[in-house]
Amino acid sequence: MSAELSELERLLDLPAFEPGWVWLAGAGPGDPGLLTLLGAHAIARADVILYDALVNVGLLKLARPGTELIYAGKRRGGASVSQTEISHELRTFAGEGRRVLRLKGGDPFVFGRGGEEALALAEAGVPFRIIPGVTAGIGGLAYAGIPVTHRDTNHALTFVTGHGTDGKLPAFDWQAISKGSPTIVIYMALAHAEEIASALLAAGRPGNDPVAIVSDATLADQSVVVTTLSELGERAKQCAAPAVIIVGENVLLREKLDWFRPVSTA
Ligand code: SAH
Repeated sequence: MSAELSELERLLDLPAFEPGWVWLAGAGPGDPGLLTLLGAHAIARADVILYDALVNVGLLKLARPGTELIYAGKRRGGASVSQTEISHELRTFAGEGRRVLRLKGGDPFVFGRGGEEALALAEAGVPFRIIPGVTAGIGGLAYAGIPVTHRDTNHALTFVTGHGTDGKLPAFDWQAISKGSPTIVIYMALAHAEEIASALLAAGRPGNDPVAIVSDATLADQSVVVTTLSELGERAKQCAAPAVIIVGENVLLREKLDWFRPVSTA
């Protein structure tokens, strides 16, 4: 890879990964091909990589031999590395003059606490670069044949998270979301799917509003359940995490756009 990578770096004039810097990068939703070129360059040049639970570990094959690989993921209900600890490690490694890569699932600034980590670096005076990634709520849905905007269905789009800082469903203005946005994409929604569906129905969304639940999006075991708002609570119970949920007419486009045929790796 290395000769080809050097050539890419030269041709595209990619920035050098300087010692003492932290690069905060998105790994995309799962399919390794969705990593950006800057992301690949970062993995190949890093001295130490702290990666999250939703990062496809296959990507770490791009790292040089000897690169320190540290799992810094959080697992619901399991032991987790605290945000303070992660920020502390990022600062310490950078202070030692290493090239530090913080690799997060999807896009680092979308419901992934990447903003908090970047703020901690900024406050500590550590130089950093942000490398965006393909977020599950756009790229993952594209793999399910669902465009998140479409001229005939929606000119607005709302992203929400089902998981607030306390683990509960955040206190949204469901009336505003329901009326203002024809299409709603929900991250971390499975645990509160029933509550979300009731809130949207109470806010006036119709029971037959189309809904898709996309699990393991972009990966070989991607699964898509198409249902309606009134059935969402029940259907979500049978779905595996991670999953994104989309509510809106866009879901129906999948009937014609369902293109993804995963290649079996078995
Ligand atoms: N920063 C990430 C989101 C992190 S929050 C991004 O931009 O995609 C974690 C949530 O992302 C999961 O609960 C799920 O809702 C969604 N997610 C991440 N990867 C996914 C995948 N491969 N398939 C479906 N949902 C995914």
